[in-house]
Amino acid sequence: MTDCIFCKIARHEVPSRIVFENERLLAFHDLFPAAPTHILLIPKSHYTTLNDVPASEAVVLGELMTTAAQIARDNGFADDGYRVVMNCNSDGGQSVYHIHLHLLAGRKLTWPPG
Ligand code: AMP
Repeated sequence: MTDCIFCKIARHEVPSRIVFENERLLAFHDLFPAAPTHILLIPKSHYTTLNDVPASEAVVLGELMTTAAQIARDNGFADDGYRVVMNCNSDGGQSVYHIHLHLLAGRKLTWPPG
């Protein structure tokens, strides 16, 4: 996807504050944080929404989740806790159409979300 902002971030064509990177995924700080720590984890491959990830590629989702937990451990907030969220489509509040996992931490998060 040439005009997708997160694809551009994944290709390092748009700057981001990178937290973690490997061949398959990238984690970077959200530009408009909703919590003291707000990190986005994306696969480098483009999937528009969660609906577009076939079961045969579920490993992508697993790696996003396990990497979020590793980032939480590495940054010392795993024990205090955190939240991972993936918004899907308009009712879910998705605004960037390249799947991403929000990793939120650093304050007591309320439930249910708005
Ligand atoms: P969502 O609303 O679930 O699609 O989340 C998109 C998130 O991407 C929002 O929290 C935005 O603040 C964030 N965002 C949008 N553009 C950028 C960017 N260039 N760098 C970092 N975060 C971004």
